[in-house]
Amino acid sequence: MSDTTTTADGAAPRTDSIEDLAGFSRRSGELFCEEISARELARRFQTPLYAYSRQALEHNIADWRAGVAGTPHRVFYAMKANGSLALLELFARAGLGFDIVSRGELARALAVGAKGCDIVYSGVGKSLEDMRAALAADVLCFNVESLPELERLNAAALEMGTTARVSLRVNPDVDARTHPYISTGLKNNKFGIAFDSALEGYRRAARLPGLKISGIDCHIGSQITELEPFVHAAHKVLDLVEEISGAGIALEHIDFGGGLGVRYGAENPPAARELVSALSQCVRERGFGDLPLFFEPGRSLVAQTGLLLTTVEYVKPTAARNFCIVDAAMTDMIRPTLYQAEMAMVNCSEHADAAPAVYDVVGPVCESGDFLAKNRLLDVREGDVLAMTGAGAYGMSMASNYNARGRAAEVLVDKDSAWLIRRRETIEDQMALESRLPLEVL
Ligand SMILES: *Cc1c(COP(=O)(O)O)cnc(C)c1O
Repeated sequence: MSDTTTTADGAAPRTDSIEDLAGFSRRSGELFCEEISARELARRFQTPLYAYSRQALEHNIADWRAGVAGTPHRVFYAMKANGSLALLELFARAGLGFDIVSRGELARALAVGAKGCDIVYSGVGKSLEDMRAALAADVLCFNVESLPELERLNAAALEMGTTARVSLRVNPDVDARTHPYISTGLKNNKFGIAFDSALEGYRRAARLPGLKISGIDCHIGSQITELEPFVHAAHKVLDLVEEISGAGIALEHIDFGGGLGVRYGAENPPAARELVSALSQCVRERGFGDLPLFFEPGRSLVAQTGLLLTTVEYVKPTAARNFCIVDAAMTDMIRPTLYQAEMAMVNCSEHADAAPAVYDVVGPVCESGDFLAKNRLLDVREGDVLAMTGAGAYGMSMASNYNARGRAAEVLVDKDSAWLIRRRETIEDQMALESRLPLEVL
């Protein structure tokens, strides 16, 4: 077994606890999601399992809705972070709208009772079919990301005898100081319309009869843990708002996108209400305080509401590293592999005879990139149930079937009830879409 207290590169290993998480607690060594122990959830529903806390969701919704007196703001949940219908239903009931990026997401929003006026449509590659579906639903606003998209949307609206409300998503060229894969507001990103072309875009949109200019939009990246990049981007957007108004084009809202970060480890991001308050203040200072503000949070609404529960299959000490092989994999949670994300990992049941060592927690998939956590000081034994916290965002929504693994089940915990909101995917489910070749060609 390798050294039990330091990591291979000599750095201090990480240990996590679950204090300060609404909806979760540790009681006599057992991790609880509301009133049910994580171990009990794993026993009842098997693992890998996503478990969400309703209390945590309501805590986050309240934070985003708090807002600022005198500045109207609307929250559109970016459902790509977690598109579970049960969660969407809770958001819809709480009065949130939805930010969508495909007609599949549109169908999900409509399925939980959202109306067109509750939906904004983002994304760089909207197809004609996407546009037609969204126009038929009469969505509140298309966030348009290029000049060719403006032309296509105009044609689609005219063909359907309607008008499309539009915002241009402008790229303010601001460094969100986050991981390059989730930074979207720099001029070398594929997203948005270059700052210098935005006014021309608005002039063009104003001349297109199938379009009605509604607002302006930006989204500079994700997992942003400071106010400063948001405020910087806001001022650049407000410079444009001045120019656009100066050109005689009226705007009806400003959309500041999503991107607020969460605490996965040592980060200390501002609360949603602080972000809303800071941006409302910018807008008031610049004399646009009467324009409603839109926000499109994804991660900050759901990340800390979910656990990924996984069972230890094997403890495998080697000369170089100790591996803790679990039944969840990159197919369930790809963030560590894709973004080098470091997410918290705890044992759901603490052992009385503690014997911690430094482990890499890895999955069964045939890829060296298949890991969930590295260099963690943990006390783990075969059969233990581990919990990755902060797993509610970009976990299940990015899950795949690689290695012919079925996707995990999901449960929503509400006090002492646990609702199965998505059953575990079966092997039959995985084969259901495929067709065999006719015998005569074999
Ligand atoms: C992804 C995305 C969001 C949500 O981002 P989070 O970081 O999850 O808050 C909002 N708006 C747009 C346009 C996006 O692409």
